[in-house]
Amino acid sequence: MIANTIRLIERELHDKARLIAVTKTKPVELLREAYEAGCRRFGENKVQEMAEKQPQLPNDVQWHLIGHLQTNKVKYIASFVTLIHSVDSLKLLQEINKQAAKSNRVIDCLLQIYIADEETKFGLSPEEAEALLNAPELDVLPNVRIVGLMGLATNTDDTDKVRLEFRGLKELYDKLGQIKRPIIQFSELSMGMSGDYRIAVEEGSTLVRVGSAIFGSRN
Ligand SMILES: *Cc1c(COP(=O)(O)O)cnc(C)c1O
Repeated sequence: MIANTIRLIERELHDKARLIAVTKTKPVELLREAYEAGCRRFGENKVQEMAEKQPQLPNDVQWHLIGHLQTNKVKYIASFVTLIHSVDSLKLLQEINKQAAKSNRVIDCLLQIYIADEETKFGLSPEEAEALLNAPELDVLPNVRIVGLMGLATNTDDTDKVRLEFRGLKELYDKLGQIKRPIIQFSELSMGMSGDYRIAVEEGSTLVRVGSAIFGSRN
């Protein structure tokens, strides 16, 4: 079941975007099953859950933190996390840099951009993202790289609206990616979930985060 769905989605994505299997709330056995089916990228939204699952899976798994990250929790994932999708402040970036240095790593990060018209506490406005990318403080963060943007579209059946939100994020990605600084190396645009990943890919996503379409709904 899971294996088939993963294969279908990966065939559909082909070389346009890569699949992150979102495994939050799901037991390790299910992650192993996805791994056996060829899945190597897993997305979790909670630090503790990811830190518990990580040692129970093979070393070639890439771990993507897709949920809000508190500065005091960075230390639990800095030694292994592949990509942090949810950076929304300079303070967080500075802490990621500090913890990455302790592990002798450079951690790739995305800025989370607020694109939906729903009430949410998380994400930067386009203006805030631009200001952050131009902040002088970024010059002294050798252990992080900002490799792109992430966004969540409005949860609605109105596909035109979702498409416009993704399109706006792609335009911002193209604009901000031109800023020339060593820390900025844009190559990833993380957008699209179970209900809207096809639209996201059509609008330029490089990483889709798909959970329920593979693993069933979460309770
Ligand atoms: C849970 C989650 C997803 C996956 O959602 P599905 O609708 O189950 O595919 C994607 N992105 C983020 C940030 C999430 O928290």
